[in-house]
Amino acid sequence: MFSLTQFPLQFSESALAPHMSAQTLNCHHGKHLATYINNLNELIPDTQYADMPLIDIIKNSAHDKDAKKIFNNAAQVFNHDFFFHCLAPQGGGIAPNEIASAFGGADVMRREFKSVATSVFGSGWAWIVTDTDGKLKIIGTQNADTPIAHDMHPILALDVWEHAYYLDYQNRRADFVDAFWDHMINWDFVRENIK
Ligand code: MN
Repeated sequence: MFSLTQFPLQFSESALAPHMSAQTLNCHHGKHLATYINNLNELIPDTQYADMPLIDIIKNSAHDKDAKKIFNNAAQVFNHDFFFHCLAPQGGGIAPNEIASAFGGADVMRREFKSVATSVFGSGWAWIVTDTDGKLKIIGTQNADTPIAHDMHPILALDVWEHAYYLDYQNRRADFVDAFWDHMINWDFVRENIK
């Protein structure tokens, strides 16, 4: 069984304001993530997934057509916990060269990430990942889909479901992506993921 206490925020709910409000974080972490955890706990007892670590649930249920709900909720638990780790008070700013150089520089990388993040149609995620060939890439995924299900290694995540930004930015997803890049990315966490 999983618990929200296993996936704590690394900062206070008001620490990212005004770029991400306490109201958004309270709802996003305390209600949306909590609901995915509760759903998963209700779905897995008496299945092959009951005692698996979260990552194994995701990898196995991704190929199990009878476990779509389990996949969706497990992937969303991972995606959210990873995303919240990608945020930090006084974060953001110019991408470290060790990452940006793979994209031809910090400006090109930022433009490409913003383009992908604003192009995800409907609900989903924007990611920097290491692909199976070891190359850094920027990708979008829809709904609960996650790089973990495609044997890619996540480096950075941005939630672009409307619940991630609507209270603070309404329909202006591009402004949310800019605020994420300029003020909220936890580059220390991102850097650790490429090692
Ligand atoms: Mn979310």
